[in-house]
Formats: sequence, C-alpha cells, structure tokens
Amino acid sequence: MVKAIVGANWGDEGKGKITDMLAEQSDVVIRFQGGANAGHTIINDMGRFALHILPSGIFYPHITNIIGNGVALDIQKLADELRDVTSQGVPAPKLIVSERAQLLMPYHVLQDGYEEERLGGKAFGSTKSGIAPFYSDKYAKTGIQVCDLFDEQRLLERLTAAVTVKNILFEHLYRKPALDVRELFDQLLRLREEIRPYVGDAVGFVHQALADGKNILLEGQLGSMKDPDLGIFPMTTSSHTLAGFGCVGAAVPPSAMEEVICVTKAYSSCVGSSTEPFVSEVTGPEGDELRRRGGDKGEFGATTGRPRRVGWFDAVATRYGCMVQGATQAALTCLDVLGYLDEIKVCTGYEIDGAVTGRFPTTPALLRAKPVFTSLPGWKCDIRGCTDYRALPENAKAYVDFLESQISVPIRMVSTGPKRREITQRASKL
Ligand code: GDP
Repeated sequence: MVKAIVGANWGDEGKGKITDMLAEQSDVVIRFQGGANAGHTIINDMGRFALHILPSGIFYPHITNIIGNGVALDIQKLADELRDVTSQGVPAPKLIVSERAQLLMPYHVLQDGYEEERLGGKAFGSTKSGIAPFYSDKYAKTGIQVCDLFDEQRLLERLTAAVTVKNILFEHLYRKPALDVRELFDQLLRLREEIRPYVGDAVGFVHQALADGKNILLEGQLGSMKDPDLGIFPMTTSSHTLAGFGCVGAAVPPSAMEEVICVTKAYSSCVGSSTEPFVSEVTGPEGDELRRRGGDKGEFGATTGRPRRVGWFDAVATRYGCMVQGATQAALTCLDVLGYLDEIKVCTGYEIDGAVTGRFPTTPALLRAKPVFTSLPGWKCDIRGCTDYRALPENAKAYVDFLESQISVPIRMVSTGPKRREITQRASKL
C-alpha cells in the first residue's frame, strides 16, 4: 500500500520529521516531485541533517529510496549530499535513481538567475536553483532524461538542440555568454559516473514492490499552496506538490494510494518574496519572536537560510490545502513552539471586499484578503518532548480540537519537538 506525506501549506511544515518517523515501517520511500530547491530537516540518533534531494528513508538500511521520474535531478547536488550524509556516519543508502528522471542542467540554474535579474523587483523569489527552467524544458520536450546519459550520440544530439535555443536566449535576451556544448557534454559524462551505480527501472521496481505487498511512502516537497494549478499561482513552484501527482512522479497507481497524511504546523510560515499573499502573517517584534522560537533552530530556510515569514495558523488555507491533497489525516507539528503565548490567534476567515468568507480564493482576491482571527487561550508551559497526548495541558488539547474542527480532517499525530520520538498519537474527534 502507498502512503503519501505531503504539505498542507507553503512548505516547511515538518514533513521530513514525519517521513523519517513513519519510514521505519516502510520498505520504499520515494521523492516524486521538485528538486534540491527546498529541504527537509531531520534530527535522529545519527545527527541533524538537511536533506534536499535524497529521500528521508536513507537513515534506515532496510529501505529502498527512490528518486522518481517526477524529480528535477541535479546530479552534482545528489552526489554532494550522498557524500555529506555518509561522512556524518550514515551507512551508504539503498538508492534507485529513475532512468526516466530528467536532469537539472547547469544552464537551468544560470537561466533562473538571469531571469530573476531581468525581472528585478517583480521577481517571484526563486531559489535560483533552476527549477522553473527545468520544468519548462521538460514540458517543451527539450529536457534530457537520465537514460540519455547512456547513449552518447543521442545525448550529444539532444544537448546540441537544447543549447542552440538556450544560447539565443542567453545572448539576445539576457546579454550573457553563450554555452559550449562540448564542455557541457564532457561535464555530463563525468556526472554520469556519479550516479551510474544507482540508475534503474524505478517504475518496474515500484510495481513489483506493490505486487509483493510492500509499504511505500511518498515524500512530498513544499505544500498545497505552492502547486502550480491549485496553489497561489504564480507564486508557486513549477512541479505539482499534491499527493495526486505521486501517481505520475513516482509511478504508483491511484488505486494503491490508501493514505494521504497532510502535514501542517501549529502556526504558519512561508518563504518566498514579500509580495506573496500570506494572510495570517505576524510582523514586528511579535513575528520576530515566533520566528526565533519556531522549528528546531528558528524559522530559517533549510536550503537557503532565508528568514521565513511567520503567521498564525491559517484555517482557511489549511482546510483548502488538506482538501486538494485529499487528506485522510493530518499531522500537526511544532505545537511545542507556542507554549510561551498567553493567547493564540487562529485565522478562521478572510475578509475580502467587505465580506467574510471561509473559502480559499484565487490569487487576485487572495491579495485583497484580510485575516479574521479567533483567539484561544495559551497553555504557558513547555510541552517539548511530550509523548502522551492525554498528558498535554487542557488548553493545548483544546487548541488542537479547535484546529481539527476548522480543517475537518482528523488530526491523528501531534508533534511536540523536532526529534524522531517527540510525537503524540491522538484519538480524533471526527
Ligand atoms: P519540511 O520541508 O516540511 O520537512 O520542513 P522543514 O524541515 O523545512 O521545517 C520544519 C522545521 O521544524 C525543522 O527545523 C524541523 O526540525 C522542525 N520540526 C519538525 N517538527 C517539529 C516539532 O514538532 N517541534 C519543533 N519545535 N520543531 C519541529
């Protein structure tokens, strides 16, 4: 059976921790979309790790980890990350890189940077890791698949075709130096050797694993709000962040997906440009304090180090985020972070043009939305590391009950700290 772990919001919900925890009972963990542009922070017995491209199952020797065909594969980053984790004492993981995955090329990174420069103040806050140009090329069918690396003539032909177009763009739109096909070709052949031992038929493997009754975990990157179709377009990412895309990006059949665990934090955080709509944002000293106390080391990007914008729990966005994911349950993380507050606000409605709505709108209306808050009493104590839900303070449980009633999805896991075991299991009231 297949379980997907995905984000209900803007990313950074703590999916890495939940995946790391649930991976124990899984046989296969698959990354199915995105690239190395965001990261999961995982803290376990082996240390603190920021994973960007490797699946979170790499800490368990019994797990086969797969980089699925839907991922933007930056081979250099994968090789560096593999070296990093093994140098921190993690045994060499079992890894399959799908032969159908496409390559994030050095020119995608360049193009991303050039485009942000061209857009100036109107930029989308890209991480400049080449993700948007990568997916544009994939759908324009000029991308290069991993399997192409093993047919040199085909590789040279496809690379030449891609670079011809890039050079027109680079020289005439961006006024930047042209690329050299031969240099790129040689670079790719070198990179090919880094992944050669891992390349395989991930599609066949996944279907065989299902036939053998294995447990498969899909690991999503970012969250619902960042989906290019159902999110806050155009301030989205370029691959689908929804569990449904796992059927494409990890090649699992829709009928095999039995559980969709939507991860959401007890407050909100969002990376990206300051122009991005973030209705429940908390700014000023109040926001600085929440940011400083958030996550395991404050709310700063795992990949970029950028300070994240923070806000109160947004029930409108999260209800919608869980709905479009098809959540069968929710996991609430970072409840411990809120222990310092006398009162905690929850955004329960959006006021748009004078009317209050609970429906998550499209971007033009979202940009005009003002938050409507409901306040709940805080619990004013440290619950970090608590593993028994019943032992939590009444106000903390009342807060979780309230969030559950707002999002209409059973909250079954409540996380009380960044470490693997810092989690409670909750009997849902729904
Ligand atoms: P992901 O991309 O969804 O995996 O999220 P990130 O790793 O970017 O951000 C989540 C942050 O919260 C990380 O620093 C985690 O270590 C941390 N974290 C996860 N769960 C909890 C929790 O329950 N409490 C606290 N304090 N931190 C947590």
